Amino acid sequence: EPLLKIENLHARVEDKPILFGVDLTLDYGQVHAIMGPNGSGKSTLANVLAGREGYEVTEGKVWYRGQDLLALKPEERARAGVFLAFQYPVEIPGVSNIYFLKAALNAIRKSRGEPEVDAMDFIALVKDKMKLMEMDEQFLYRAINEGFSGGEKKRNEILQMLVLEPTLCILDEIDSGLDIDALKIVAKGINALRGPQRGFLMVTHYQRLLDYVVPDVVHVFAGGRIVKSGGPELAKELEAKGYGWIEAHLEAQA
Ligand code: ADP
Ligand code: MG
Ligand code: MG
Repeated sequence: EPLLKIENLHARVEDKPILFGVDLTLDYGQVHAIMGPNGSGKSTLANVLAGREGYEVTEGKVWYRGQDLLALKPEERARAGVFLAFQYPVEIPGVSNIYFLKAALNAIRKSRGEPEVDAMDFIALVKDKMKLMEMDEQFLYRAINEGFSGGEKKRNEILQMLVLEPTLCILDEIDSGLDIDALKIVAKGINALRGPQRGFLMVTHYQRLLDYVVPDVVHVFAGGRIVKSGGPELAKELEAKGYGWIEAHLEAQA
C-alpha cells in the first residue's frame, strides 16, 4: 500500500470551499513537490492533512499507511508520524527548544510502547543533528522560536524533523525568505532524512528549492486541485513560463 493516498478531497475553511477534488498517491521513499499560484489552496491541503483546526473536509478520503487519516485527531496524527513544518512557525514563550523536542520525542516513543529516551543520549543526538544544520548549541536553551530570525525558525523546523524522524513530512514553503546559504542547509537536512521508510510532500511557490531537493514527482496545484503532474522538468517549465498559462488554461476549461 502507498504511504499516502488522497482521493477526491474537498475541504472548506470558514464555510469557503477551497479544495475541489485533490487526488494524490505518494509511495514510500518519494518526494512530491506541490507548486502553484498564491491562494490556490496549497497550505489548506497541508493543514487538512495535519488536522489543523478550522479546516472542514466535505468530501473524499485520505489513507495514511492504509489507515483513515481523517479519523485521527491532530496529536494522534503527529504520534503516528505525520509532521507538518509550518509556513509561519509559531513561538511558544517560556518553552525551551530542548524541552519541546524531548517531550515531542517521548510522546512518539510512548505511543509505540518504547521507553523514554535517556537524557544524555538525547542531548548527544540533538547536538549531532544541530551540527548538520549548522546551528549553535545555544538554540537548545532558548524559548522555542522566540526572537529567532525567519531562517533560524526554518532550520529549527528541520531540526525537529531530524530528531523526531517522521514517516510523512509535510513542508509548507520551508524555502520562503531563505537566502541561498540557509536554503542549502535546509535542503541538506531534508536530504539527510530521505529514505525508503519515509515520504515528503513539499509545498513551494518557487522552483529554487527543487534544485537542491530533487523531487520524484511535481504537481501543479491551481483552483484547489492538482491540474498537472510530471517529473522535475515540470518545475523548470513553471519557472520559465510562470503560472499564468495554467490559470488561462483553467479559464478556457470553465
Ligand atoms: P496557498 O497556500 O496556495 O497560497 P491557501 O491554502 O493559503 O493558498 O489559501 C487558499 C484560499 O483560502 C485563499 O483564497 C485564502 O484567502 C483562503 N483562506 C485561507 N485560510 C483562510 C481562512 N482562515 N479563512 C478564510 N479564507 C481562508
Ligand atoms: Mg499563500
Ligand atoms: Mg500557502
